[in-house]
Amino acid sequence: MSQILWCDNVMVDFDGFKALQGVDLMIEPNEVRFLIGPNGAGKTTILDVICGKTKATSGRVLFEEVVNLGSLQEHKIVQKGIARKFQNPSIFSQLSVFENLELSIRQKRNLTSVLFARMTGETKNHIEKVLEQIGLQDFVYKQAGELSHGQKQWLEIGMQLMQNPSLLLLDEPIAGMTGKEREKTGELMHEISASCSVLVVEHDMDFVRKYSKQVTVMHEGKILCEGNMTDVQENEHVQEVYLGR
Ligand code: ADP
Repeated sequence: MSQILWCDNVMVDFDGFKALQGVDLMIEPNEVRFLIGPNGAGKTTILDVICGKTKATSGRVLFEEVVNLGSLQEHKIVQKGIARKFQNPSIFSQLSVFENLELSIRQKRNLTSVLFARMTGETKNHIEKVLEQIGLQDFVYKQAGELSHGQKQWLEIGMQLMQNPSLLLLDEPIAGMTGKEREKTGELMHEISASCSVLVVEHDMDFVRKYSKQVTVMHEGKILCEGNMTDVQENEHVQEVYLGR
């Protein structure tokens, strides 16, 4: 398979305002792609289109080469294998880390299969694997509300991973994190990419420089350029509109 996601000439018009003006974006399997650009560039809007929160005015979003996401409702898109972590964690503060992970699986499965999974221990194994991935093995029974800011973010990433996504959308995942937490998040994204592509909107250029292989720059609802961070930084249009040179 050549790409997991293909946004093909996607346009979004909000009552006459063209937020996306023909976005072509391809994401490969197992890649971590950074999406950058100034405020208002259309980064959130393209994530919204991919996860079904906003419907494209025209264009197609093909997932795993065949599924046209434009025709699906948000929950169906989750079931197809696209997960999104928003900036603000939506964890259940009163529940433990374990319970949060356990509950999150219901978004994808129906209750019968959750119960079946419990009986076979499949869910428990899955939770253990995710706990290890997000580094919260020692906090299994801790109330989610008592976790540090970074740990809460990782828990929410873990809740998305419980759905076995093929594509994970992250919106500024390191906002408010300490230096160490940022580092761990950068490493986590690459670990996750062993089983799932990651598309991440990020403003912190030091972080992007350190953890990116491929970067897509958006500006005024269009893709301005793509490439590794060196290519992107040397691109004269990027320097003009984004880095202010
Ligand atoms: P970014 O995430 O790159 O900062 P957005 O995708 O949030 O940019 O927004 C792109 C443009 O679309 C902005 O000018 C924003 O004001 C506009 N926009 C976003 N959502 C709406 C909406 N629901 N109605 C009207 N305009 C919107």
